[in-house]
Amino acid sequence: MKKESMGVQQVICMKGGVGEGSYARNSKSQAALLSKSMPLLEQAVLDLCCTTGTLPESVAIADLGCSSGPNTFFAVSEIMTIIYKRCRQLGRSPPGFWVFLNDLPGNDFNAVFKSLPAFHEKMKEENGEEFGPCHVAAVPGSFYHKLFPSRRLHFVHSSCSLHWLSQVPPELLNKQITNKGKIYLSKTSSPALIDAYASQFQRDFSLFLKLRSEETVPGGRMVLSLMARRTPDPVSDESCLLWDLLAQALQGLVSEGLIAEEKLDSYNAPYYQPYTEDLETEIENDGSFSIDGLEIMVLPWDSASGGQNYDRPTTAQKIAKSMKAVQEPMLASHFGAEIMDPLFKRLIEIIAADTREVEHVSVLVSMTRKA
Ligand code: SAH
Repeated sequence: MKKESMGVQQVICMKGGVGEGSYARNSKSQAALLSKSMPLLEQAVLDLCCTTGTLPESVAIADLGCSSGPNTFFAVSEIMTIIYKRCRQLGRSPPGFWVFLNDLPGNDFNAVFKSLPAFHEKMKEENGEEFGPCHVAAVPGSFYHKLFPSRRLHFVHSSCSLHWLSQVPPELLNKQITNKGKIYLSKTSSPALIDAYASQFQRDFSLFLKLRSEETVPGGRMVLSLMARRTPDPVSDESCLLWDLLAQALQGLVSEGLIAEEKLDSYNAPYYQPYTEDLETEIENDGSFSIDGLEIMVLPWDSASGGQNYDRPTTAQKIAKSMKAVQEPMLASHFGAEIMDPLFKRLIEIIAADTREVEHVSVLVSMTRKA
């Protein structure tokens, strides 16, 4: 593995634990997306039960980018409950389950395992005491690497994770191109920068498909959601506004002398929001999965408030807090932990003073591994 990509994989991780600033306590928008994705997920699970003549004795389910907190077990519990109910309706004996929870090694897997007894309890409550056997294993590593033996998985799920790249585009790392004062694409991005980000995503996503196609049994299902855009324009506010506001907050700290200008210039997000149609094209080009359904999911600007309507300053606080739970480990490792408070204080002021609002757009795609 290249040195740079090692670096990214060591620093991407949500804020662990269950404290006030943790991902576990600040992932309402992601939870809302998971709920929205349930109808398509349910259809995929039911199709799997129907087309797989007899379900195997043990169904292997993987959740990739599981993080830690209430969302970690959300999809896998739904998948198992749907299979369980369906088997009972059909008078079949239900299968056992292997659940593989994957995330990068820095993920708070300890917190995940601490919540295991509660998860087993809930599954028994919902499905009856005889539920099981259900083995849960952690699979630390990047989903841009091989994670499982060939033809091992029956159901692959990943939510809100695949917009994270395996690395910052190499052209930025080796300073072939620059992104002065910014940390992601923006209205002033050069065509070369836009191309560099698009190509990195294309390489990463096609590698992801190739790896999963090897690991999934023919007829197996994969349901993915990730941040995306409805427009072919890669620098529309839809995908760039919040990054721009965060860059403004960093620029503010540069002018205060709290961070060096070169530090800001050398920071770029390993992130990309693809156009939904480009994603479909990638899946078609890979050729090993057929698309069963694709939906665009839109959350309102203030989705971090969990459906409550607050005034702009309060909404600004909620948005900044949820951005902090996702980005703090990454930002702190580059700029230093001591600037996190002033940075996010500034971000709140900037969001509160701005009048623009953008919706948060994701794509949900359900597919079948071709035979
Ligand atoms: N699925 C959860 C968490 C989403 S947060 C939810 O819907 O709420 C995104 C997660 O993806 C983070 O935990 C991050 O560490 C993980 N992630 C990012 N890049 C990854 C990679 N290359 N391999 C595995 N996990 C990755």
